[in-house]
Amino acid sequence: MSPNFPDLKDKRVLITGSTMGIGLATAQAFAHQGARVGLNGRKAPEHLDDILAGMQTDGGESAFFAADLAHSAGCQQLVDAFVARFGGIDVLINNAGGLVGRKPLEAIDDEFFDAVSDLNMRSVLMTTRFALPHLRESAKQSGQTASVISVGSIAGHTGGGPGAALYGASKAWLHNIHKNWVDFHTAEGIRFNIVSPGTVDTAFHADKNEEVRQRISAGIPMGRFGKTSEMAPAFLFFASHACSGYITGQILDVNGGQYMP
Ligand code: NAD
Repeated sequence: MSPNFPDLKDKRVLITGSTMGIGLATAQAFAHQGARVGLNGRKAPEHLDDILAGMQTDGGESAFFAADLAHSAGCQQLVDAFVARFGGIDVLINNAGGLVGRKPLEAIDDEFFDAVSDLNMRSVLMTTRFALPHLRESAKQSGQTASVISVGSIAGHTGGGPGAALYGASKAWLHNIHKNWVDFHTAEGIRFNIVSPGTVDTAFHADKNEEVRQRISAGIPMGRFGKTSEMAPAFLFFASHACSGYITGQILDVNGGQYMP
């Protein structure tokens, strides 16, 4: 049975990096609540029409916006296009992110540093920056809090696996920068929370064979990888003013017990 969050109906929800994986499952969950949802990726996914039609049937209005968020201009372009279509932003979900690659310390060069930082840090910072006036306006007009939810990671707590130090550090940076945003933007009616996944079965883990997957699963109290559908409700909860209107500055770890802060 799907959870029900009636106050998300008609909310304007922009979800970065939502052509597949956690972002797409989350977009579909918002559509199911009757929200108006912006999908994003560098380019349209193969079955975009089917995805949009499915979300429409499910009760939500949705549109896709191509933008590369590793560049500030792409972040601005995405926010502008979403606002032109939906008239504002009530909820921003900063989900786009990834490993880029695995490199041990000795192999990290400027190019790799920039690529990991641009994808995981610049994208969140700039998208939030450009969305800020719209989130403020949403809170002012609705009398309810607007919500920014960024996707952190278990690696932000632990430091990351082999070759993932920069990725882990970039997620820790996100966990930290939210605290500053809470301090300086709560009075404007905006809440900032983080969903921090553990090990979720997406393309993120495409480099792992069955043996490695089993070894990882054995270290998770739940004994398995998480499903994308198990991540989505955490975003609904943080987006819903009725459910989490007094919750800000928090990290919700959704990880089957893999890490307990
Ligand atoms: P995924 O690879 O399935 O999806 C990544 C999404 O980001 C895709 O939609 C892709 O198109 C988009 N994207 C990539 N680069 C982009 C760019 N430059 N501009 C715009 N969009 C871009 O990965 P996922 O596992 O669903 O990961 C989603 C988020 O969850 C990421 O931030 C990731 O770091 C985080 N995360 C994942 C796991 C996991 O185990 N899967 C664990 C912890 C955190």
